[in-house]
Amino acid sequence: MIRARAAILRRTGAPLSQETIALADPGPGDVLVHIRAAGLCHTDLEAIEGQLAVPLPAILGHEAAGEIAAIGPGVTDRAVGEHVVLSWNPHCGQCFYCDQDQPILCARYLGNAAASYHFDGAPRFFCDELPVHQLMYLGAFAEYCVVQAACAIPIPRALPFDQAALIGCGVMTGVGAATRIAALRWGATAMVIGCGAVGLSAVQGCRLAGAGRILAVDPNPARRALALRLGATEAVDPADAVAVARAATDGRGADVVIEAAGAPAAFALSLEAVRPGGEVVWLGKTAIGAEVPFRWGSLMQEKRITRSSYGGARPARDFPLIAQAALDGKLDLAAMISARLGLAEIDSGFAALKRGETVRGVVIFGHAA
Ligand SMILES: [Zn+2]
Ligand SMILES: [Zn+2]
Repeated sequence: MIRARAAILRRTGAPLSQETIALADPGPGDVLVHIRAAGLCHTDLEAIEGQLAVPLPAILGHEAAGEIAAIGPGVTDRAVGEHVVLSWNPHCGQCFYCDQDQPILCARYLGNAAASYHFDGAPRFFCDELPVHQLMYLGAFAEYCVVQAACAIPIPRALPFDQAALIGCGVMTGVGAATRIAALRWGATAMVIGCGAVGLSAVQGCRLAGAGRILAVDPNPARRALALRLGATEAVDPADAVAVARAATDGRGADVVIEAAGAPAAFALSLEAVRPGGEVVWLGKTAIGAEVPFRWGSLMQEKRITRSSYGGARPARDFPLIAQAALDGKLDLAAMISARLGLAEIDSGFAALKRGETVRGVVIFGHAA
């Protein structure tokens, strides 16, 4: 047993509770990770506000980096001291969907997600001897975390933890949309709708994939300016997006549109802005019961739509590549960090995320509040 400070969600809508937890020793196939940085993602906010159902009490946090502190029995391919980025998509490798190369749909992953414990159903976190759930098999808003070894992906030690953390969710999703999901050809015209952490990562992914023009769309001028810094060739207000896409392409529309805003109007806009035969990738989310209106005609003409939650991630393959791209100066992760905070300041970090003031706030463990 090891003890750790953690921020626990005990009741939706309430501030996270700062408490000390006890962690089970890593079991077979587990590793204990000393969390060094954890990003504040919209999915955590959905859990806090109750739009995403999570059994409580739970520890949130699914975008994190740290250092392996101990390994469980049978783990032969991880070592104490390795720097790791956490993946929230453990998968069995043996089910129908894993065989289809769609681990994000893994039967064991989806089947056990609602319980918010590991695949074996056993809790790893305890508070006052009562079990505490782990959001998305992680629960990284804690100084230590016990995860499946396969969810702790080693990365080069040279990458700072705050930057590395972002790889685990937002960066993987955005970069992956451009490099793993979309068939984005060199010289193509891409549009990214929404310039939060995922959208700015998609902008950078489009640059990595060799897009000729990258049109970044956001109503917020500061975010548009950041998109231009990160590789967008034009940054536009949503009201002008369709006209700009057409003007850039002899009237056709963008070859690829990546949606990362998570608003019904953005889904509709993506279909209007893409060219006939073009490709739309939807990354954002809206309320699960929401009806999303669009103009039927905008769907015609052989357009293809893909919804992706994790940018086609194969964490063991992609996290080290993304980390190396950051070290090589091909991806700017630091620019997406708008605030560094201590664990005790996490509620104000989520309030700022909700107000749209931050691209990414990152909890730095050991950071003086
Ligand atoms: Zn996330
Ligand atoms: Zn599977």
